[in-house]
Amino acid sequence: MRVLAQMAMVMNLDKCIGCHTCSVTCKQAWTNRPGAEYAWFNNVETRPGQGFPRTYEDQGRWRGGWTLNRRGRLTLKAGGRLRRLLRIFANPRLPALRDYYEPWTYDYQNLISAPSGDDIPTARPVSLTDGEPATITWSANWDDNLGGGPELAVHDPVLRAMSERIKLEFAQTFMFYLPRICEHCLNPSCVASCPSGAIYKRAEDGIVLVDSNTCRSWRMCVTGCPYKKVFLNHRTGKAEKCTFCFPRIEQGIPTVCAQTCVGRLRYIGVVLYDADRVLAAASEPDERALFEAQKQVLLDPADDEVRLAAARSGISPDWIEAAQRSPVHKLIFDFGLALPLHPEYRTLPMVWYIPPLSPVVDALRDTGFDGEDAANLFAAVDALRIPIEYLASLFTAGDPEPVRNVLCRMAAMRAYMRDTTLGGTANESIPVSVGMTGPQMRDMYRLLAIAKAEDRYVIPRGHAEPSDVHDEGCSLDVAGGPGMGSGRVDLFTWDGKSRPAGLFRERDAT
Ligand code: SF4
Ligand code: SF4
Repeated sequence: MRVLAQMAMVMNLDKCIGCHTCSVTCKQAWTNRPGAEYAWFNNVETRPGQGFPRTYEDQGRWRGGWTLNRRGRLTLKAGGRLRRLLRIFANPRLPALRDYYEPWTYDYQNLISAPSGDDIPTARPVSLTDGEPATITWSANWDDNLGGGPELAVHDPVLRAMSERIKLEFAQTFMFYLPRICEHCLNPSCVASCPSGAIYKRAEDGIVLVDSNTCRSWRMCVTGCPYKKVFLNHRTGKAEKCTFCFPRIEQGIPTVCAQTCVGRLRYIGVVLYDADRVLAAASEPDERALFEAQKQVLLDPADDEVRLAAARSGISPDWIEAAQRSPVHKLIFDFGLALPLHPEYRTLPMVWYIPPLSPVVDALRDTGFDGEDAANLFAAVDALRIPIEYLASLFTAGDPEPVRNVLCRMAAMRAYMRDTTLGGTANESIPVSVGMTGPQMRDMYRLLAIAKAEDRYVIPRGHAEPSDVHDEGCSLDVAGGPGMGSGRVDLFTWDGKSRPAGLFRERDAT
């Protein structure tokens, strides 16, 4: 057993309101720079929808992730080393700018400098890539809230594989939001795709990073990542990707997207895994068994044998203790709610999702039933407005059973807690019907509904050399910016509570 620690995240889709705050704050922190205007390390997709970049899930076209070759061995879907080298100067599997979108701004200057005339001056769109007037035809979120519905969402690769009934009815029946960041996979195909060895997975916390000094712009990582979460900065010619906000994580502070999430739906914690089991799990022949195989790679941090092996591997006691308190581990194993996104890509993704249940309550209420009653809810789970078939294609390679189990547990929790909080006696048969006890269900409710920040984020401080990033101070701390260039307060790693010297004006003594 070779135990390693992995920083992981769970997002509860039942609570995402699609406000995009996470995307905007991430952009301000990481991609608000020339050459990265089109890049969204965090984006929020409306599903069904084409996603960002368009149809990224169509691996028949983009060839991202891993597959099994004829001998059953794990190989990159983009082909072996020779085939990839032959394509290194002309790779046909790269999304073009039109698949992302042409980023733009507006010619605001024209509003104040246009000569007097009969017409009101306008601010026309201008491309942020070449400065020329732009025609806006697509964006990172063009199909938000099913915008363009029947014409655009039918090109969703997941929906395309669905039954005719779902295809025809989706516009009237369902939609939900899917926030996405890099999955910081246990078996990252971006790392395996890079001919220069510029992408690496950090040993101490599993965060996947790009060494920009080594990157040679081959962009094979863009092809290799099935989630299309590596971006080429076209000014610097370097690959860039979500860093899991590692300078913050090293100081025990949650990622920007998590801390600013309006729905408080993101959970961050450490999981321990056995590196020796990764290859076997990713090589599982049955796609529908990949979800369980991925779970088998993760270890129980409460197990004495695991703790000893972790200590032997050099994992410090505070990290082992954090793994025991990890909300991510609880949501995957103790409550059995979190599922990985597209396990069939075989990268063993480490951002997990709780599938959404909400519309079933509304659907029941609309038809005159009590939407929070356990019996009604269980009966309705199979007739969800968001079809289980669709959720299963996203989270369990098409196996509906694990999704059904999660939704039943969520439905049971609603019914059980309603009885409890409205003063009636708790109906203990409800948790039993989904394989839980009353106290377990109340714990689950606390974590999902009312958890404080310290329960949602259990992040031990890093023991490796601190990154250079916070030595450089806040990137905005220049003349005219916050602090006006006089101090060295790093807003990026500020926890929002302390009062670092130089951040606030000193109060008058009077
Ligand atoms: S999701 Fe992240 S870690 Fe996984 S393959 Fe893509 S870029 Fe690499
Ligand atoms: S900030 Fe939270 S609630 Fe808003 S879109 Fe992002 S994940 Fe969803």
